[in-house]
Amino acid sequence: MNTMLACTSCGLEETESVVHFGSYILRCAACGQHLVATSFMAMLNSDDECTAFIDPGPGKNPLPETLVARGPLRLTAKAISAAATDGTLIRVIFEPRD
Ligand SMILES: [Zn+2]
Repeated sequence: MNTMLACTSCGLEETESVVHFGSYILRCAACGQHLVATSFMAMLNSDDECTAFIDPGPGKNPLPETLVARGPLRLTAKAISAAATDGTLIRVIFEPRD
């Protein structure tokens, strides 16, 4: 899930993945500008390991107690979707593959 997108506002190439309602959004980690949005539904069959937290805001590290789900996306997507349905931003952090 690494992208080389540069932010159109500040030029930084560091993105964060967040889920908002049914959308999957790549966001600049520095200024919070939304770079790309797609449907979260498009990712539901992924085996990528991820950890999901309630989003603390751009560039901030999520707190362990805000954990929503952890595991392959195909198993955690339901919990992530449920947590995002009321408009809560959910940060999704993908594990680096070995
Ligand atoms: Zn930016």
